[in-house]
Amino acid sequence: MQQKGLLVVLSGPSGAGKGTVCQKLLEHRETVKYSVSATTRKPREGEIEGKNYFFVSESKFLDMIDNDGLIEWDKYCDNYYGTPKSYVESCIQDGLDVVLEITVAGALEIKQKYPECVLIFILPPSYDELKRRIVCRGTECCDVIEKRLEQAYKEMKYASKYDYLVLNDCVDNAVLNIEKILDAERLKPSRNTELLNTFIK
Ligand code: 5GP
Repeated sequence: MQQKGLLVVLSGPSGAGKGTVCQKLLEHRETVKYSVSATTRKPREGEIEGKNYFFVSESKFLDMIDNDGLIEWDKYCDNYYGTPKSYVESCIQDGLDVVLEITVAGALEIKQKYPECVLIFILPPSYDELKRRIVCRGTECCDVIEKRLEQAYKEMKYASKYDYLVLNDCVDNAVLNIEKILDAERLKPSRNTELLNTFIK
């Protein structure tokens, strides 16, 4: 009697530290897998094809949409980003939790298609810290930084639509809180109907 895996969606503004939190979560739990997105954005220094993203051309991305290969997609700061369907669905069937790190629009689309998913919003400690992180990262030029900050203000307004908020003032605490969420979610009656049925005469 194997329980299905959880579809876990992490969102939060650029600079909230989703990437670091996600990385640590994967190190802590072997049963949590990362869904590698497809994007038309150019790789940043140090990013690896197939690990950080599948870097694709715009025409390839549009083909993926046409062939129903993505469970959601969004345009963010002039680039396309999307979640490949097959990996996510196979993880869930195999009882593995799969984590998606995606925009608010993508997360809300997933919630409609997969109502049993778990939406977690990662909050930065403050706006000032958010700005400091985006600027200090040094991977984007000024106008992209401005666009990302603008987008961050917009995305923050959607936090209340999520199932859980996790404040990332300390990465270890944030990861611990996400692990607690995953454990609690797995104990929900709706995820344990087979077990419950064995007790019902
Ligand atoms: P970045 O360019 O910083 O890697 O990502 C920009 C934004 O796109 C981030 O908020 C990231 O979470 C989001 N993103 C990454 N992959 C996907 C995806 O597959 N779908 C959607 N909707 N957003 C994504």
